Amino acid sequence: MTFENTIEFAQRLDAQDKLNKYQDEFIFPKVNDKKVIYFTGNSLGLQPKRTKAYVDEVMEDWANLAVEGHFYAEKPWWDYHERFANPLSKVVGALPSEVTVMNTLTVNLHLLMVSFYRPTKTRYKIICEEKAFPSDQYMFQSQVHSHGYKTEDAIVEIKRRDGEHNIRTEDVLAKIEEVGDELALVLIGGVNYYTGQVFDMKTITAAGHKAGAYVGWDLAHAAGNIKMELHDWNVDFAAWCSYKYMNSGPGNASGCFVHDKHHQDADLPRFAGWWGHNKERRFKMEPTFDPVHGADGWQISNLPILSLAPYLASVEMFDEIGMDSIVEKRDLITSYLEFILQEIDKEVDSTFEIITPSSPVERASQLSVLLHGEGRSLFDFLMENGVITDWREPNVIRLAPVPLYTSFADIYEFGQILKRGILQVEK
Ligand SMILES: *Cc1c(COP(=O)(O)O)cnc(C)c1O
Repeated sequence: MTFENTIEFAQRLDAQDKLNKYQDEFIFPKVNDKKVIYFTGNSLGLQPKRTKAYVDEVMEDWANLAVEGHFYAEKPWWDYHERFANPLSKVVGALPSEVTVMNTLTVNLHLLMVSFYRPTKTRYKIICEEKAFPSDQYMFQSQVHSHGYKTEDAIVEIKRRDGEHNIRTEDVLAKIEEVGDELALVLIGGVNYYTGQVFDMKTITAAGHKAGAYVGWDLAHAAGNIKMELHDWNVDFAAWCSYKYMNSGPGNASGCFVHDKHHQDADLPRFAGWWGHNKERRFKMEPTFDPVHGADGWQISNLPILSLAPYLASVEMFDEIGMDSIVEKRDLITSYLEFILQEIDKEVDSTFEIITPSSPVERASQLSVLLHGEGRSLFDFLMENGVITDWREPNVIRLAPVPLYTSFADIYEFGQILKRGILQVEK
């Protein structure tokens, strides 16, 4: 498609967009009395209008039924999480029994590492990406320490090549082969939070297994953003937060995936709690742990229903729409954003650079822009003019046009604001 930098062209794309109507399903903050252009759905998704009813329902049930709500609410709390299995499994490409919801992301990765990071004297290394999200770095360090290893020895980072912004798949594969028999676990962010790079999860998972390691993925920026086939790719485990592309609200519950080949493995250690215990016998208060077969068997505590309610609203919305439509619009709108950035760059003779891969298979909703000249003051200008984006040190703004609520007209308009901003800041 040949793009044009005009409002008429953008409006034509909006008119053809099957997801356009979903914008009305979200609540947008306002700046200067105008609804914002929201590019930070990769950090905290907007609130869907339908969410409040899900939360209100739990509040009402609690008020009217109190403890009886566990069993007699319309959506009983004791198995509330089971409502996620079907729709959520479709979001990540899993069997319903392979997904569950519980806790929060870093907590879940720690718990999954109890099962899947089983270092021995000779096989104890973890491969991760260079400059992983800080929480993941702290997690790796504390995990290897808790097993008595040293960071420098046990954590192997895959580096970017000099002058390159992204990690090459061939370098990941080479590192896996190099670490070989010492490799216990590969755990990488499926979509890099900083650059938006999408990793080839299928190929990397197969390579990790060939080396004899477990392979897990942090899907914080992948869930609801890219299409995955976790089951078919033979991924061992994964976890994601629900408040980024999945719009569940600040700090809300995380999703987990555990491959079904591990469900019956009684030797796999795990930290247990009563909510992972045999469902029919849970309230018999027996002393011996008998895990539920499936990802639910990794649950520990009874679930925070008020945190699950907004997530359920969101998961049902994703089920209604389907990942295919999301991916289709995502690729078009991201390409349009890329085009607009390049046009504005030409018009104002600026010096910014898109560091996200240009190939559509290696990127998703996010474009990260490295500002060589304009810097922080341009970011401030955008925020004051109703473009909500985020700033990452040393000089990067991340722009995530979210297929569910960003319009093509938003992208055009963003270009105009950006242009004014660059001209003004330069003065
Ligand atoms: C957002 C994000 C997190 C956040 O972790 P929480 O435990 O939910 O606070 C972790 N890892 C990655 C890669 C992220 O992008």
